[in-house]
Amino acid sequence: MTAEQMVDKVEKAEKTLGKVVEGGKAIEIPKAKPPDLNASSKKALKELGYLAGQVGRNDAFLKQLNTLGPMIMDAGKPREYGFEKPEKIFRNEKEAKIAIKREDDWNKSRIALKKARAERKGFFASLWDNTKTAAKAVQNALSKVRNTIDDFFTKTINPFYRSSAGLNREIATQWLNESYLGTINGKRFAATPPMLTVELDKGFFERVANVYGCPAVGLQFEGTNLITIAKSLENKPEADRRKTITHEQLHYASELGGGKVIRWKNQKGDLIVYGYAKWLHEGLTELHAQQITRSKGYTPSRVSYALETITGVYLQRLVGAGVLKEAYLTGDFSKVREIVDKKLGTDSFDGMMKTNKGVDALLFLRNGLNSAGINYSSWDKDPVAAMAWKDIGGR
Ligand SMILES: [Zn+2]
Repeated sequence: MTAEQMVDKVEKAEKTLGKVVEGGKAIEIPKAKPPDLNASSKKALKELGYLAGQVGRNDAFLKQLNTLGPMIMDAGKPREYGFEKPEKIFRNEKEAKIAIKREDDWNKSRIALKKARAERKGFFASLWDNTKTAAKAVQNALSKVRNTIDDFFTKTINPFYRSSAGLNREIATQWLNESYLGTINGKRFAATPPMLTVELDKGFFERVANVYGCPAVGLQFEGTNLITIAKSLENKPEADRRKTITHEQLHYASELGGGKVIRWKNQKGDLIVYGYAKWLHEGLTELHAQQITRSKGYTPSRVSYALETITGVYLQRLVGAGVLKEAYLTGDFSKVREIVDKKLGTDSFDGMMKTNKGVDALLFLRNGLNSAGINYSSWDKDPVAAMAWKDIGGR
């Protein structure tokens, strides 16, 4: 299948599945019928799911994955949940460059398609876009000069400056060691440690943000040990750099243990394979990254995925840190589900999962806590939750 055909499929999937993510905001469009899974469309979706695993994380793909859980799992073989070794192990910059370019090409084709569609919206609207583009170009040029100066001072004048490669190594060996990750994830992670590159092309992360609908300064390549961070991150305070590198490393560590395939046993003991839930995985990744970074004496200046992370704090308070971390690293949420249901009532966990969106999950949990008469006001004062609330503009 060509990239154009794939983009077309994604567009169709987005329409079917109800929401289009654009510029970080979810736009509601009328719900269509669930996809008709006759033999031929089943085959197409299977193929789509397989390719989704290959090209990266796209919201529409992920929604497909959520709908089609077990089938896509089958398409994603040979890795069932976790995996001994990543599909591809990166060991040098040259190999990494190829993967990064592939990701970037995919993002470019996606953006080009969006642009073509937007251009159909009329002459005056596109005139306005061009004006904005010109203003942005001036801004970019100015910030480039600033960054170069910052970069020079941060690295040349500051004798304590640590290279990103050095931080990557230190975090991988000293923070995310076997005693933190547990035996299975820990051994796999140490055997094929994360490789980090710094992306010099500023446009790369702008395109990532455009395609995934939220700003990003780091990316872990699905199914691989490759992590790339934005050059701009190198001028940020060390606590933020450490937190972001830890966040990306945790995506990888969790993936190795099956953490991206969220599943649980229901009351009857049947295994329910939900698949990937971006809001939950990102929220728990950020929560754990924040907590380790802080425990080592570095306080990041902000919280990414604020709403999702607050949900993570609530879950942690409800089920306990050990149970939640185990679920995050293995993907098995049976125990989490059991405790949540015991405390908030039957089907509470499933209800939360059905929201499939950070903000709705948080509201769902707060409603559940209120009805159960659990006082959670102190949870909002948790240092990570408090900063996250501040980052989304108070409450
Ligand atoms: Zn992330």
